[in-house]
Amino acid sequence: MKIVKCEICSKEFKITPQREKNKHHTCSRKCMGLFNQKEKRLTCDFCGKLFHRKESHVKKHKNKYCSSECRYKHKTTTFSGDNNHQFGLLGSLNKSHKSDFSISKYGYLFLIVPNYRTKSKGNKHLLRRPSQKAPD
Ligand SMILES: [Zn+2]
Ligand SMILES: [Zn+2]
Repeated sequence: MKIVKCEICSKEFKITPQREKNKHHTCSRKCMGLFNQKEKRLTCDFCGKLFHRKESHVKKHKNKYCSSECRYKHKTTTFSGDNNHQFGLLGSLNKSHKSDFSISKYGYLFLIVPNYRTKSKGNKHLLRRPSQKAPD
């Protein structure tokens, strides 16, 4: 048996070895309920994925993204896809946009950002799989 502190009321209590694996420890169901209330379930403004954020964080930030990658993509994507009239005006045709798009023959939509690189993916970012709806 191990003694841990409740993350809500700071009470010390014993836990079974199985519970040691849990990331968070609460002494009772009541505290567990309070703990869950502290995190809000949100949907990403960019990809629509469900994720959790602390309520304090939600209040501070107006836009909600599951990752910094989504935040960046949303900022650089000023139009939403095929239905947008600007969609055809890319690259050299539309000088106001530094980033560019490419669509693979399978329908994958990529965003190409010259000044933004990740370790593995280079400057090409997958925005949309053929099965996904256009982000809006
Ligand atoms: Zn407690
Ligand atoms: Zn996202």
